[in-house]
Amino acid sequence: MSVLSTAPPPSAWINRFATLHPDFYTFLDPAPLPNPVWVAASPSCAESLGLDPKMFSKESDALGVFSGHLPSPIWSGMQPLASVYSGHQFGHWAGQLGDGRAHWLGELSGPSGSYELQLKGSGPTPYSRRGDGRAVLRSSIREFLCSEAMHALGVPTTRALCITGSPMPVYREKTETAAVVTRVARSFIRFGHFEHFTFNNPQPARLQELADFVIDHHFPACKEQPHPYAALLQEVVQQTARLMAQWQVLGFCHGVMNTDNMSILGLTLDYGPFAFMDAFDPGYICNHSDTGGRYAYDQQPQMGWWNLHVLAQAFMPLIEDKELVSNVLNPYPDLFKDHLLSQYRAKFGLHMPDVNDEMLVQEFLSLMARDSSDYTIVFRQLSRFNTTEKTSLSALRDFFISREAFDTWAQKYKIRLQQENSQDVERAQRMNQVNPKFIPRNYLCQQAIEKAESGDYSQTQRLLQVLQNPYDEQPENESYANYPPDWAQTLSLSCSS
Ligand code: AMP
Ligand code: MG
Repeated sequence: MSVLSTAPPPSAWINRFATLHPDFYTFLDPAPLPNPVWVAASPSCAESLGLDPKMFSKESDALGVFSGHLPSPIWSGMQPLASVYSGHQFGHWAGQLGDGRAHWLGELSGPSGSYELQLKGSGPTPYSRRGDGRAVLRSSIREFLCSEAMHALGVPTTRALCITGSPMPVYREKTETAAVVTRVARSFIRFGHFEHFTFNNPQPARLQELADFVIDHHFPACKEQPHPYAALLQEVVQQTARLMAQWQVLGFCHGVMNTDNMSILGLTLDYGPFAFMDAFDPGYICNHSDTGGRYAYDQQPQMGWWNLHVLAQAFMPLIEDKELVSNVLNPYPDLFKDHLLSQYRAKFGLHMPDVNDEMLVQEFLSLMARDSSDYTIVFRQLSRFNTTEKTSLSALRDFFISREAFDTWAQKYKIRLQQENSQDVERAQRMNQVNPKFIPRNYLCQQAIEKAESGDYSQTQRLLQVLQNPYDEQPENESYANYPPDWAQTLSLSCSS
């Protein structure tokens, strides 16, 4: 049977990371998955790369490529490698890490610029330590769905092109099966890549090479600044502050914000025990292994800043001036707060800033926390708030146990909306574009995983489709916007993947 060839031309691969000094990586081929099958694919991600979504058909040569069967003579132009980095994990220096189960394939120049492709779960590398280099189907589905959901939600993130699966056994708490998820990003460079060349294997020349690389390819305006490396650090501070605000307003918990999981471009990176909160709880910890709550929901902004301090230390050989570094780091809390408040204003449908907005937001969040209201459902319902009826407070009241407390808040909100002459219909439309209806709740992912583990991948693909339009009403998919079932409370997520 002939195999559909969907390969990009060899000239499409520009592979700039592979032009760095060999100290940054080891060239090596992935270890192929035996008897691979397609599990799921994102046609929209393929299109953004200029790839033909037909490649996800059964007979395509791409199935081999994205399950690690390289080198592929048809898909020539890739330069598989694993990169080395270091990092701080749960507040402690962890030494050398690296792509222990990921193979960078190359960088593809497509219609919307260039993107790097990386296989995850594609076999051991020199940085695997005691790991087996594999990823299980369960965690691959979670990463795939959440990456694409975050992209659709408008949050900077690595994307996911496809998942391939295999009957190959992988041993975790129980025996599971192997999968490979293909990730896509402008760059996979982490804070930890910089830490590596300052703390682990101090080489100022390599550190500078890396910083120049990131400036040249991602932040070229820094070159025009009097202190280009301080300007780069400032960019990372700004991107991280914005990302943390986006996570907070969506109720997203990353779960493992170690410095090796922090992207230098401010992307959401390395989806493990992440969760979108169901019932609002500021102290929510999604990672079962995080017993101290270091990465609890309400700690994330602070942890982002902690990680930036580590990055700043790693930049010291380049910047040298302690005061300058402090001046770059210090605006973070205000930057974060400004982003947070302006994003919350949008969620509440407010146009003009007002000095009391922070209090208005905080009071609403306190009500939700006290009554364990469903974060996503309540914000979506808030768009139905009515400023004209006398008994305006309507169905929204029913989401709160203490109706009186809600009424008191709602009265303030109503006055606030009237102040800026807010029109209910127009405001509702705006609010529905920032308060999602569909998010990758743990229980939805779990249902897709259980089906997939029994060989039926249709639910994973269907859920992807729903999550690709998170702000649309999608009446035919109403059930995906439901409250989590009771059994969802017993779901436990750990770092095991
Ligand atoms: P994570 O906690 O997933 O961010 O991973 C931390 C480090 O462990 C990274 O260097 C990973 O590449 C590595 N790692 C995690 N799981 C495995 C595995 N199964 N095999 C090899 N390396 C792994
Ligand atoms: Mg990681």
